[in-house]
Amino acid sequence: MRGLMQEFPLLVHRVLDHAARWHGTRPIISRSVEGPLHRTDYATVSRRSRALASACEARLGLSMGSVIATMAWNTWRHLEIWYGVMGMGGIVHTLNPRLFTDQIAYIVNHAEDQWIFTDLTFVPLLEKLQDQIPHVKGFIILTDEAHMPNTTLRNPICYETLIASGDEAYAWPEFDENTACGMCYTSGTTGHPKGVLYSHRSNVLHGMMCALGDAMAIKSIDVAMPVVPMFHANAWSLAFSAPIGGAALVMPGPKLDGASIYEMLTEGCVTITAAVPTVWLMLLQYLEQNPDLRLPQLNRVVIGGSACPESIMKAFVETYGSDVIHAWGMTEMSPIGSLGVPTGQTNSLSAEDWWTVKLKQGRPPFMVDMKITDDGGNALPHDGTTFGRLKVKGPAIARSYYKGDGVNAFDAEGWFDTGDVATIDPHGYMQITDRAKDVIKSGGEWISSIELENIALGCPGVHEAAAIGLPHPRWDERPLLVVVRRQGSAISRDDVLRHLDGKIVKWWMPDDVAFVDEIPHTATGKISKLELRTRFKGYAFPGT
Ligand code: ADP
Repeated sequence: MRGLMQEFPLLVHRVLDHAARWHGTRPIISRSVEGPLHRTDYATVSRRSRALASACEARLGLSMGSVIATMAWNTWRHLEIWYGVMGMGGIVHTLNPRLFTDQIAYIVNHAEDQWIFTDLTFVPLLEKLQDQIPHVKGFIILTDEAHMPNTTLRNPICYETLIASGDEAYAWPEFDENTACGMCYTSGTTGHPKGVLYSHRSNVLHGMMCALGDAMAIKSIDVAMPVVPMFHANAWSLAFSAPIGGAALVMPGPKLDGASIYEMLTEGCVTITAAVPTVWLMLLQYLEQNPDLRLPQLNRVVIGGSACPESIMKAFVETYGSDVIHAWGMTEMSPIGSLGVPTGQTNSLSAEDWWTVKLKQGRPPFMVDMKITDDGGNALPHDGTTFGRLKVKGPAIARSYYKGDGVNAFDAEGWFDTGDVATIDPHGYMQITDRAKDVIKSGGEWISSIELENIALGCPGVHEAAAIGLPHPRWDERPLLVVVRRQGSAISRDDVLRHLDGKIVKWWMPDDVAFVDEIPHTATGKISKLELRTRFKGYAFPGT
């Protein structure tokens, strides 16, 4: 027997309809690519999204299932494209401009993007790339007529002119909630990037999940600033969970340096924000250089994408009075998988014990299930010390990659193998010890590169640290710690090793410390271990 409740497919434009009707005047403040701050609200964005949807049908020939790409910063216009194109039944494919150009071309061709909506910033990049993506019909440039560039792009269209030709009274179509609406490729550090195809249902459920109290707790009194780009794994849901909760939005646009982020945080009275650790490192350095500056409104900072060092968390909590939520996830998970928030049980821990737990990547909210297994697929205990392969399940987690790539990551029972190695403690807090391909295997045992890096970052004079495993004649692999010194610091190998001494078991101690000017990063801001291992190929440890 079926229930007698209304049919109400979970379509993403319902999220914007809700925000427009019930939180219509909540502001959306963006730093525009043209320069000045731009102010709008949910009611206006909703009207313009409908106009865009109608113009996409009439002028660009889009219909249900059409794929378009965006190469754009977080601004109100990018938001309008998401809701307008998804709302008319199209698929928005977000392109990461930080990828190598050959990878971008591969992705655009693989996804069969029909049009590319681009910010002014990326016009030169796309001009160079356009011959490699011949099926793309043209480029919509996110600006007004006054700022249209002189460009060799084929079929350049001005975004504001396109919207002006549309109908604000456009009625969203109704369709199945499992219809695809968004696409994002993983960065493909090994092999080609793989496409993740989000559905309306998965985006709405994930947006609601992230707004939950024990997740990001998004409320209508909040002002949310996704610094994490919309082209990186759905901006960690904030473009959905902010309008679901009725929170105002602040969009940082193209400027992500410490001073610019500080300006947006204070100008917009931001209460919750989210980004990878490197962004917060830049902000904290700027604040350190300007000791009078404070963050009085900022209530919580969500940090993820790579392990958040203790020094960053403590600076926010102890110096600026903002709470930090350490989060973990991945593109395939829409992307949030766990968040480090307290429970009834951990609330009674001492401050010191709570910090040990808080530094972990957190607990899964409702709609994410997780387990750790050995290589044979057997579940491992939640004792906080046994590490295993981390596998996940849920309605906003991929069940396959686009066009059937990467089948090995999915098992018959529906678990997705994240490629991460983790422990889960008796309180249910998961801790990532490594990416499976980055663990350091010494004498048959595993050393966590992430833990070595975190502890090294607490050493005064260390700006950034990366631990990699290099071949060793006796132990198979041994850890090398690669360090970037803080500006003006003369810290030595022995200083760093002395700092680690006593904080790790003896056999985890790096065999050497190498100082470099810069550590390479991937297009999603993670340390590129692959590149580091290549750079240090043939490195001889002292005494070998
Ligand atoms: P990419 O395209 O670079 O793979 P993702 O965002 O999908 O981008 O990367 C997901 C991976 O990032 C995870 O599998 C995990 O290894 C790492 N990661 C994400 N958040 C954290 C975190 N808080 N701590 C440690 N690693 C993390």
